[in-house]
Amino acid sequence: MTITLKVSENTKEKMIEYFEDKKRAKTPPYAIFQADEADTVITLYNSGKAVFQGISADIDARMWKEMEQHLNPNKTIEISNSDKKEKKEKKELFIDPKIYHSNAIGSDEVGTGDYFGPIVVTSAYVSIENIPILEKLGVKDSKKLNDQKIMEIVPEIIKIVPYNSIILTNKEYNQKYSNDINMNKIKALLHNKALNNLKNKGYSYDYIIVDEFAKPFVYYSYLKDSNNICRNITFLTKGEDKNLAVACASLISRYIFLKEFDKLGESLGVFLPKGASNIVDEMGVKIAKKYGFEKLSEIAKLNFKNTEKIKLLLNENK
Ligand code: MG
Repeated sequence: MTITLKVSENTKEKMIEYFEDKKRAKTPPYAIFQADEADTVITLYNSGKAVFQGISADIDARMWKEMEQHLNPNKTIEISNSDKKEKKEKKELFIDPKIYHSNAIGSDEVGTGDYFGPIVVTSAYVSIENIPILEKLGVKDSKKLNDQKIMEIVPEIIKIVPYNSIILTNKEYNQKYSNDINMNKIKALLHNKALNNLKNKGYSYDYIIVDEFAKPFVYYSYLKDSNNICRNITFLTKGEDKNLAVACASLISRYIFLKEFDKLGESLGVFLPKGASNIVDEMGVKIAKKYGFEKLSEIAKLNFKNTEKIKLLLNENK
């Protein structure tokens, strides 16, 4: 996998500082440095082009994309993935018009891959009449919207789209969910709750759609102890591309997540990284040193591997 990201001067400086100890002895022509981060090779060019290569290149690229976004909130991010491009050309996504042009309740979640911050699950209701307005707002290509754009359009979306969101705080997550319960079960329970909350409002719908994260029989098996199970769900992979209710649910979840994430970072006085990479570990160490290790139980998902890595790093630093 090769990902190319265009970074501004301020991000460039941060990268130079960050990769100082990871630099290779040799520098390719026109490059400022070439460095190794676990399996990823990072090359930063004078032009501001940063190239990430390796099987987990996306994780490293994502971190720096977020840094770029954070330092330059008004800039459009230029990023390209050479492998994805090839795949996309091969396989066109099938969008079923019957499902796209329908009254639907859609559900999607955010935050399950991020060490810091809550999990947010949203169910949203979109009626056929509202589809054109939402298309105009740019909901159809929800994947292409950056965080800044999401902050702009979601307040418009929620003026016309009824929704129900559930925020699972880190405290609740760590208290209720020990290691024996997996992330997909948590998702299933939260989706079921959000769907029921919205369904009870009585909107007329043709479909209930969940962005598929588990096979239907597995999904329902997670709910076997629940007393109110929302059935007749249509599970769709890449659901947000195939139905606007799912797309709205995804955007609203992201919007709420971003707000919560910012609040969390502000309360800690740091710029919190998203995802679960080593940059996250380093921030975890910083926070543990400042507020004590226990603080992590309020702001992070403790069953992630990052917790152990943070512990190790703290011991090394002693
Ligand atoms: Mg999803």
